[in-house]
Amino acid sequence: MEVFIEPIGRLMNEFSKLPGVGKKTAQRYAYRVINMTESEAHAFAEAILGVKRKVRFCKVCGNFTEEEVCEICKKRDKSVICVVKEPKDVIALEKVHEYKGVYHVLHGVIDPMNGVTPNDIRIKELLLRVNEGGVSEVIMATNPDVEGEATAMYLAKLLKPLGIKVTRISRGVPIGSELEYADEVTLARALLERKVL
Ligand SMILES: [Zn+2]
Repeated sequence: MEVFIEPIGRLMNEFSKLPGVGKKTAQRYAYRVINMTESEAHAFAEAILGVKRKVRFCKVCGNFTEEEVCEICKKRDKSVICVVKEPKDVIALEKVHEYKGVYHVLHGVIDPMNGVTPNDIRIKELLLRVNEGGVSEVIMATNPDVEGEATAMYLAKLLKPLGIKVTRISRGVPIGSELEYADEVTLARALLERKVL
């Protein structure tokens, strides 16, 4: 016999799919939902469906947006492109308020051990953007881990022959860590003290 009645067990099972949520936390979340009013529960469920219905990828940079092209691509300096692994890295860099250029989200990094080849991430799209002209610098802001470094070097090799200045954020961000967890001062310095590749 199951310990939890079916609707509660089902909700717990859904919560346990979230990162960092174990069985105990899933149970706490489920019990909290049971104590919600009908309208609170409705707002909660609607918010989940809302991101699925409304959020899509910017057709230029690959970041999350509600429009075809995101606000950053529409309004900012297109001569500098900052290359990151994931949309959450854009958030990390935007919090610094130092950067005035646009982004390119790769949606992954080259990782042959896990079967991720250059064709599996948005490299083609980056080359297309650069080939359109008007780009003077591409900043590699992939994470300072093995895959992030290898991806930055790979892209530098492709971009440099096109006459583009390619830079790498400095090692202010601890090696092996993720941009997401770097504090804002560290990230600002890493961006400011970027090195030419
Ligand atoms: Zn965009």
